[in-house]
Amino acid sequence: MAPTSLSPATVEVLDRIEHLFQLSNDRLIDITRQFVEDYNLGLGEYNKAMAMIPTFVTGVPDGSEKGTFLALDLGGTNLRVCEVTLHGDKTFTLRQQKYKVSEELKTGEATRLFDYLADSVDAFLTEMGHEVTDVEALHLGLTFSFPVEQSALDKGVLLTWTKGFAARNAIGKDVVKLLQDAFDRKHLHVRCCALVNDTVGALLSRAYTSGGCFLGAIFGTGTNGAYVEDISKIKKLGDSTSLLGMSKMVVNTEWGAFNNSRSVLPSTPFDNKLDRESINPRFQAYEKFISGMYLGEITRNLLLNLVDASPPILFNGNSTPILNSHYGFDTAYMSDVENASNLDEVQKVIVERVGFKPEDVSLDDAKIVKWACHLVAARAAKLSGCAVASVLIQTGLAKLGGGSSSGDERFSVGVDGSLIQHYPNFEDGLRASLRVLVGSDVESRVDIGLAKDGSGVGAALCALQAVKQEKTLER
Ligand code: BGC
Ligand code: MG
Repeated sequence: MAPTSLSPATVEVLDRIEHLFQLSNDRLIDITRQFVEDYNLGLGEYNKAMAMIPTFVTGVPDGSEKGTFLALDLGGTNLRVCEVTLHGDKTFTLRQQKYKVSEELKTGEATRLFDYLADSVDAFLTEMGHEVTDVEALHLGLTFSFPVEQSALDKGVLLTWTKGFAARNAIGKDVVKLLQDAFDRKHLHVRCCALVNDTVGALLSRAYTSGGCFLGAIFGTGTNGAYVEDISKIKKLGDSTSLLGMSKMVVNTEWGAFNNSRSVLPSTPFDNKLDRESINPRFQAYEKFISGMYLGEITRNLLLNLVDASPPILFNGNSTPILNSHYGFDTAYMSDVENASNLDEVQKVIVERVGFKPEDVSLDDAKIVKWACHLVAARAAKLSGCAVASVLIQTGLAKLGGGSSSGDERFSVGVDGSLIQHYPNFEDGLRASLRVLVGSDVESRVDIGLAKDGSGVGAALCALQAVKQEKTLER
């Protein structure tokens, strides 16, 4: 509800905006039904909006896995190199180093980006005091958090960039080869033997530490989910002889691309503006309603609309360079605003983060900014529930609308990402919509747990599976 202590005229404007962000239960149900439909379309054929990518990961770990591997993680806010040791008793140790990826590298020539990845691994090994003269090459798993059509555990072509990346001459190429070539150019004795999406990493690492997991999901800079599917339902694989005897496979849904046509997603002018001005208009529709890369920008569009109203509704019609710049209002600021315990604190956040002078931010301004942040984030959390519910339904663990489910089986979800970890009440909002979609009995049995260091541990687990497979083939 818009804060009612404001003038009636202001409340009327805010109410009208609020209405645009509302999601009825019926709408949530429609969205979820569409999700399940799109999953099955994507499992049936290649080149569907929902990519439903077979990952060639045919089992989930049980915690007994052992070994030391390198992992490289690209695709969120940071680039990370780690060395992961799996102890075989559900625990692991990890040493890691973070590196920045500049805008130039994100949007320049792809070989430069991959050279930088190789340099980072090199720097990491030096720092860790690794002997690179070892006879056997070090095995590395690559966590690459973009849509990649995989054809093997260690092979896959990039379908499209997301999240602000746009490096040239990468789409359609095998990313493992791009990385391996970069290692080879530098004579680095490292072999990339597995390629994994961050969602798959979250799923595997959660399974490793907790004994089971049906879904790995990211709610961070971007959003996506991977789950365990029956191979018999992945019709587009045909009768792959190499999979003989396997019954399950992890599928990377790439749900960020859900409903690019926006037939069921509720758009507002603020969302439309964001999409139009993005580097991938009409793509990643669902991700643009949900993820950390975009929520701040939707909110910025809304705030500026109120600044520009006549008469002005916000900041007396004034703005700041931060508020004026594209992506200038970070999603982390929203989180600070929502975390503030009173309006004085909200005021302080606005002054510090957005660059206003204290005297230019009234308590009413603070109230309205808080309301706006909540509106955008609450919608994101609710919509996130649709994706989780749709996987419960797709895997037969729940029915749309709830009912007729019983038992005490628990459903483990491994999650990672800044929103689910840090945004106040994000999980509560997600759960509220889960209750609408699959009933409170099922919702109460869903365990949402952080896949700690999921990208690193997941890549290591995949590298382990790859090495095992190679040894079996050699025999
Ligand atoms: C990418 C996914 C990734 C997700 C979360 C999306 O933009 O397409 O592959 O899993 O972000 O990082
Ligand atoms: Mg990440």
